[in-house]
Amino acid sequence: MSLNLSTRLPLRALLAQATRAGTRRWRPPIALKSTAPARQFWNKPQSPAPQPVPQQAPQEHLVHDASNAGQLDGMPAKHVAVNIDGDPRVFDTVFLRDSCTCPQCVDPDSKQKRFQTADIPENLEGSCRTVVDKEKGWVVEVVWQNDVPGYGPEHRTRHSIDWLRRALNTELELRGGVRSDERVLWDKDTIVKHNKWVDYKAYMTEDEALFDAISHLNKFGLLFLKNVPKSEESVVDIAGRIGNLKDTFYGRTWDVRSKPKAENIAYTQHYLGLHMDLLYTSNPPHLQLLHSIRAQAPGGESFFSDSFHAAHQLHASSAFHFRTLCTFPVTYEYHHPTQHYHYTRPTIELFPYPKYSEPTNLAIRHVNWSPPFQGPFEARIGGENQTALRNYISASHAFDKLLGSEENLYEYRMNEGECVIFDNRRVLHARRAFDATKGERWLKGAYVDDDVFFSKLRVLEEKFNGSWISDGVVRHAIK
Ligand SMILES: [Zn+2]
Repeated sequence: MSLNLSTRLPLRALLAQATRAGTRRWRPPIALKSTAPARQFWNKPQSPAPQPVPQQAPQEHLVHDASNAGQLDGMPAKHVAVNIDGDPRVFDTVFLRDSCTCPQCVDPDSKQKRFQTADIPENLEGSCRTVVDKEKGWVVEVVWQNDVPGYGPEHRTRHSIDWLRRALNTELELRGGVRSDERVLWDKDTIVKHNKWVDYKAYMTEDEALFDAISHLNKFGLLFLKNVPKSEESVVDIAGRIGNLKDTFYGRTWDVRSKPKAENIAYTQHYLGLHMDLLYTSNPPHLQLLHSIRAQAPGGESFFSDSFHAAHQLHASSAFHFRTLCTFPVTYEYHHPTQHYHYTRPTIELFPYPKYSEPTNLAIRHVNWSPPFQGPFEARIGGENQTALRNYISASHAFDKLLGSEENLYEYRMNEGECVIFDNRRVLHARRAFDATKGERWLKGAYVDDDVFFSKLRVLEEKFNGSWISDGVVRHAIK
């Protein structure tokens, strides 16, 4: 049961308050270039003129119906304004209705919605008041004038003020193109300083150690585990701690060891240059795991390079090269008798950002760089007036030089009982040639998809931090 402390103030009082608020400097949680629609709405000339605010009720979360000038308070309307942190914020009642979490609307067990957005009447109206909810604290309670068919007059929608504030801030941040980005770009010196070796047992048994490990992995794109049991199943256990393994035509797990007439260069003893795996698929693996089971053969050192760091360096040295790599299409393929994969993508992919603002932090989503798996170019390949391919050649020279530069390369020879996990869409890996005649070299590998990794990261972020990041926006756990 809730305690109803609602005091419906007359509309003129609300308008007065809105006008009063309008004279204050509005400080958005983030910098926005455009004026929020809520303000435009409130700045519409609406009579009556501002009047002194009457004695404030004990509660601050003033609510009223604001869709039509002259409408009486408490009457159903299409929009309502909620006082959030001193400013009236306008919400469409469709949003409030659609996000109702009452047991009639969302199944308490499955958390699935019991109605569809398309069931909401187009002319939906509701009237609001603020009440105190035992669980949620101050809430806006909406009574529906013309509810979704099948819902009776007793149906109420309740949203906490905190939840509405979060929804509003999320929208502003998404619109403002803000990205909360924890990634730390690195060169050799930085990664040598920050590298993390996590004990296998702690990783497998303690949630806090796992959170620490995968947060680090998210920041740097590189993580090492030590004291890993010498078993072919260990890599399954390590990946499985994050979530489901990604199955590919290489198998759920796969072996990197030298073998004759290998179908993939990785299965030879030759030098293997900096690359990413499976760029010829539509969603290449996010994580790659390599567990060193045998490291007897001389050589075979691993190299890692942060392609995001190199991309930033490229941008600083030549914005033209950077733009070329953002647009020029490169085709990757795996064309064999029983498998034929084919995908074309630019070398650098950015997060989308608002049309009229610049990508201030070079919000790089992916880098795609895998020379051994490249197929023939299929677009912008030439012609007398075509300069795109020449531009690409020039840009790829510059990028390749940065990726493989002494300052950027981190070299490490994997010991037996160690497992490396790296972000396959960011950190390039390479391997020196090794002498297979002098000993065995055997790595067991596995992949994990991006959705699986970020799901686990958010679960642990919510558990340990009380907030998580989705679409680059921090969301706080709120009832
Ligand atoms: Zn409901």
